[in-house]
Amino acid sequence: MADDDLPTPEPKEIDEKKSLELRHLAEDAVLKGQPYGDEQCNNCLFYMNTDEKISYCWHPKLRILVGHDWWCQWWEPIPDE
Ligand code: SF4
Repeated sequence: MADDDLPTPEPKEIDEKKSLELRHLAEDAVLKGQPYGDEQCNNCLFYMNTDEKISYCWHPKLRILVGHDWWCQWWEPIPDE
């Protein structure tokens, strides 16, 4: 079967639902795909693995994957040990 015969993939209902949920989550957090001055995810308390470009944010209102240079209104500094 030639590639031309394959249907073009399209988002399903669940994708629309998840997209909307994540959009609301991002709006609540004022989540941005860029730093806010010196503040960014990889120097935030809630960023799980600070040496990775994408990591899990364990802030209780988020709990999603975020980029190392993103930012949101719940940014918190990492306390000195
Ligand atoms: S709380 Fe906000 S700034 Fe901190 S890691 Fe999560 S998304 Fe990034």
